[in-house]
Amino acid sequence: MNADLHCHSIFSDGTLTPEVLAARASAHGVTLWSLTDHDILDGQVRARQAAYDLKLDYCCGVEISVTWAQQTIHILGLNIDPLSSVLLEGLASLRSGRVVRAQKIGTALEKLGITGSYQGALRYAYHPDLISRTHFARYLLDAGVCQTISEVFKRYLGEGCPAYIAHRWTELSQAIEWIQAAGGVAVIAHPGRYSLSYLQQQMLFESFKNFGGVGIEVVTGNHTPDQCNEYAKIAMEYDFFASRGSDFHGVEGRYTDLGDLPELPKGIRPIWECWS
Ligand code: AMP
Ligand code: MN
Ligand code: MN
Ligand code: MN
Repeated sequence: MNADLHCHSIFSDGTLTPEVLAARASAHGVTLWSLTDHDILDGQVRARQAAYDLKLDYCCGVEISVTWAQQTIHILGLNIDPLSSVLLEGLASLRSGRVVRAQKIGTALEKLGITGSYQGALRYAYHPDLISRTHFARYLLDAGVCQTISEVFKRYLGEGCPAYIAHRWTELSQAIEWIQAAGGVAVIAHPGRYSLSYLQQQMLFESFKNFGGVGIEVVTGNHTPDQCNEYAKIAMEYDFFASRGSDFHGVEGRYTDLGDLPELPKGIRPIWECWS
């Protein structure tokens, strides 16, 4: 079993279409796949059809932006119904917030002498309301302001940088409710990427579990082997199911390719046991 349950398409901040991603997943030996765009479900029908055509098992997915303890946390919804009105409406409200934030990012960059970035970033976005910092980063790269995407985040868009706009996404409990309303399971994405103290991390896992969250991404593109083991232990401690996903966005900068991940550590229950 080679499961890859986390990646992005042109419908959010990836660079490839659902069909190209499905073909790439299949070519890389993935046997269970999920497209998990940020805050949007528009790629789901195409991804599911493309997977079906390639005889690749598929589950619908999404990655929801949440604010918890003043930090941005990403919650994956797996095996969701892509037609759930509760989830669709919730995500639409998140996207309106994205538009307001993007305008503020544009203004902040303007003050730094970088003009036209909101309009510029929009040209890289498939949907005008799914506008991400990644679209700004691509614009700044192509405009010659920076040489790499990671330089853009380091100098302008990352937390604490001059064009970073703090934003309130949805509540943790709300995201889990939307996912459950869509018949899916909630999973904490890339837990090793947040800057939380040990105590905060424990509080996050406990709240998440109390709200009905069931899984944690143990193996992801940005976990070190030590982190994989650490989160496998946490999965056992909290009785979470374990997920595995590359978080592939396209062949841009440093990336982990689809399916190109270590196995889930032994002794933990894989998340797909929840639905298969
Ligand atoms: P947003 O949801 O619009 O705030 O954008 C977050 C996205 O930006 C993440 O999902 C990543 O794809 C990307 N991102 C965040 N930090 C970095 C970074 N340091 N380098 C490259 N991409 C990043
Ligand atoms: Mn992203
Ligand atoms: Mn994420
Ligand atoms: Mn992601």
